[in-house]
Amino acid sequence: MNIYNNIADIRQSRWADPQLSWGLVPTMGYLHEGHISLVERARQENDRVGVSIFVNPTQFNDPKDLAVYPRNLERDLAMLQAAGADLIWTPTPEQVYPPEYQTYITVETVTQVLEGAARPGHFRGVATVVAKLFNVFQPHRAYFGQKDAQQVAVIKRMVQDLNFNLTVISCPTLREADGLAMSSRNVNLTPEARQQATCLYQALSAAKAAFEQGERSANHLRQMMTVVIQAAPLARIDYISITHPDTLMELETLEQTALFSMAVFMGKVRLIDNMQMVS
Ligand code: AMP
Repeated sequence: MNIYNNIADIRQSRWADPQLSWGLVPTMGYLHEGHISLVERARQENDRVGVSIFVNPTQFNDPKDLAVYPRNLERDLAMLQAAGADLIWTPTPEQVYPPEYQTYITVETVTQVLEGAARPGHFRGVATVVAKLFNVFQPHRAYFGQKDAQQVAVIKRMVQDLNFNLTVISCPTLREADGLAMSSRNVNLTPEARQQATCLYQALSAAKAAFEQGERSANHLRQMMTVVIQAAPLARIDYISITHPDTLMELETLEQTALFSMAVFMGKVRLIDNMQMVS
């Protein structure tokens, strides 16, 4: 496994044998089994796997959130070695955004709702850094978690609009035994908030059960999820939404595949989760 922070070294390693296919897994580090599942999928589908570890400052709209974002490079590298990654890019912020840097990517409509509305500038930072990662690694396939469903929609849009020559692959959300979606941020939950954080999964599961029994009113389903979340004393709802999975436009009646998604503060930690339901 080769680990570099210089772009020239990454390119040299990437192109050592131009015949090989490459999968890329972008991450912000502090890895868990969810990240590793992406690496394993990439491992199965490509000759070589590249992983980036970069806490991207431009996608944090809140400097306090950036300051408390957890990091443990040594542990990350051991996990990636065990998972069979080939090439790791661990750049500094100055390498990604050198002095005089002034180019950003704005994906329009699909970034204006949900996470984009709650976190202004977030997807501008995400799209910009992912475009840079695509240019540095030039992968055949790039792997993202469905856990960040809007991110997948935004990246797919960007890839299509800007003609990136690669396939975006969306991978299922890995969960803890009690249903909480794995996330690097979970470590910042207090023990009580961690216990109550299962309310996101419980709310989505309740909606799924009702949906499977034929409930098709988005209002009723949203209301049902709200009640479950509100039963957790530490929970504060940011949004609860039922949208088209690609356009992210809110739905009234569910006639097709729908994305159920939510953002909830558990104490000071903001968690997101989602499920897709197919009619
Ligand atoms: P992050 O380090 O949070 O930027 O995540 C890096 C990638 O891992 C993103 O594509 C995430 O969607 C994905 N990811 C994060 N959590 C999970 C999870 N619980 N299951 C599957 N993929 C995940």
